[in-house]
Amino acid sequence: MAGSAADRQQILDWIETDRNELVRFLSRFVQARSPSPPGDTRKAARHVATFLKANRLPHRIVAPQKTMPNVVGSFAGAKPGRHLVLNGHLDVFPADESDSRWPHRPWSGAIADGKVWGRGSVDMKCGLTALVWTYRYLHRLRKTLKGRLSLTAVSDEETFGPWGADYLLERHPELRGDCCLSAEPSTPSAIRFGEKGVLWLEFAIVTDGADGGYVHRSESASKLAMALARDLEAVTRLRPKLPAKLAAVLKRNAAAIDAAQGKGAARIAGQVTLNIGFVHSGAAINILPGDARLGVDIRLPPGIGRAEILETVHRILARHPQASMREVKYNPPSWSDPEGEMLRLIQANVGALGGGVPKAILGVGGTDTRLWRYRKVPAYVYGPPPIGLGSHSEHVRIETFLHVVRTHALSAYDYLSRG
Ligand SMILES: [Zn+2]
Repeated sequence: MAGSAADRQQILDWIETDRNELVRFLSRFVQARSPSPPGDTRKAARHVATFLKANRLPHRIVAPQKTMPNVVGSFAGAKPGRHLVLNGHLDVFPADESDSRWPHRPWSGAIADGKVWGRGSVDMKCGLTALVWTYRYLHRLRKTLKGRLSLTAVSDEETFGPWGADYLLERHPELRGDCCLSAEPSTPSAIRFGEKGVLWLEFAIVTDGADGGYVHRSESASKLAMALARDLEAVTRLRPKLPAKLAAVLKRNAAAIDAAQGKGAARIAGQVTLNIGFVHSGAAINILPGDARLGVDIRLPPGIGRAEILETVHRILARHPQASMREVKYNPPSWSDPEGEMLRLIQANVGALGGGVPKAILGVGGTDTRLWRYRKVPAYVYGPPPIGLGSHSEHVRIETFLHVVRTHALSAYDYLSRG
């Protein structure tokens, strides 16, 4: 703990007083629909900007793409010090409105049973609300703070697109800061200090094709695609050289990794995995297909990189002369110190708030925090449990939501009250 006990209590009192307003902010944030694709976040950005404006908090809009604005705010404390950046995304997964299994309509932001419901309630409008309000509370305390606090509410995260955090960090290097705090879903018992990387490859297979009865005339592109997909499993047998400190944390916190991301997550956290995201081939049952396409999603832990994966892939490709490959995307794996300062501040605060001390875990999915880590800035993720992501039951418990608000506000305060 750092700073004054009175300030810390003041923050908790404000949150208690604002409880209903916080919940209403989140509910309306969900109503400001921002599914990606297509990724039009103007309503959600307006929701945040209107709030910042009403509370006279410094901010501006950075919109390299008209439909994908980023809301950026920054203010200095009274004394020099370190720069903390609060980062969250405005876009959310799409929602199938015709799916009758939604207990409340996906864009309703319904407040019911002590929960806020709807697409984006968890990923990550709950967390971004916590960051926006942290920005508000710490602005009130700025005379007691050191350094600088920035808020980046970005677009274009869900598809790893170029117009959000990536754009900001390239064009506005002053937003890199000294530490990044995100409120993506982690689960209250876990803090994400790193995440696996992504290598997306697309394969095209071309043969002559023929009538389905004339199998002697051409090789089948669909069968070749299936054989190729099977052979590509070889990448999952590559053994990453996990850094010793990371390997120790993965082992020690295996139960927490499973609890946060589903049973089995700890097993694959340190391994290369492969998913065939799509297989396109064939027009009709009686035609021997002359082309096929495979979308391959490889996830890699720290300790292995693109070059090693591609070496294996090229060796496999040599056995499939009808196939060609295109690299779609590569995001290297990234991790910050699993005992870093911000992580320890979050642990201390959650412990003091009466939760168990959250464990350091590696994420098996991707977030924008990698972009800070690529630039040598430590980045940590603490947020609600990932309930109903991509499905019809996305919701966050109001008590969990308020816990995330408290944790972020206190941890950001602690970081900026220190040297
Ligand atoms: Zn997210």
